[in-house]
Amino acid sequence: MRLASTGYTIELPEWVADELADVDEVIDDRVERMRLVHRLADRNWREGNGGPFAALVAETATGRIVSVGVNVVLASGISSAHAEVTALGTAQRAVGTWDLGAAGLPAHELVVNWRPCVQCYGATLWSGVRTLVVAGSGPELEEITTFDEGPMREDWAAQFVARGIEVVDGVLRDEALEVYRAYRAAVDADGLTVYNARTGA
Ligand SMILES: [Zn+2]
Repeated sequence: MRLASTGYTIELPEWVADELADVDEVIDDRVERMRLVHRLADRNWREGNGGPFAALVAETATGRIVSVGVNVVLASGISSAHAEVTALGTAQRAVGTWDLGAAGLPAHELVVNWRPCVQCYGATLWSGVRTLVVAGSGPELEEITTFDEGPMREDWAAQFVARGIEVVDGVLRDEALEVYRAYRAAVDADGLTVYNARTGA
């Protein structure tokens, strides 16, 4: 047989570089790191790349931004191209290892505009980050956006902690909901694609 494809790449959209042009390489306040994530998430859906989701990886102690990620499922045609996967992968490329918690590296944190979905829950566990920072974790994301986050465990946060990953919840929560509500309003008005792959299954 002859394979139709032997690989794929997940690329950040070009507008991300423009959006970061006025952003310092170091953002020492965690709240401000989340504010940047919200900004990227809001622009991402408006640009048509994917859902209203963004993430970044930073060095926890210094606040140096190592990578950012946005959801590029629509732009890439790859169902796993969520913001967390994109941010973690580009961070690992930047640092040069699959383990962001490797000996000799500064501790890294993943900052996301909501609790990860079931896929990104696993991706975060395997990434080596020492801290997960989320804007919120309740049912509001699914209720507002109608995205399916999958069968998450009730004890998802405790599972992170049991593996040495601190969880910080509730950072700029209301601002996250504002992004989701704006997205939902556009979906209702314009019929934007909410790309849940299992729709109709
Ligand atoms: Zn995800």
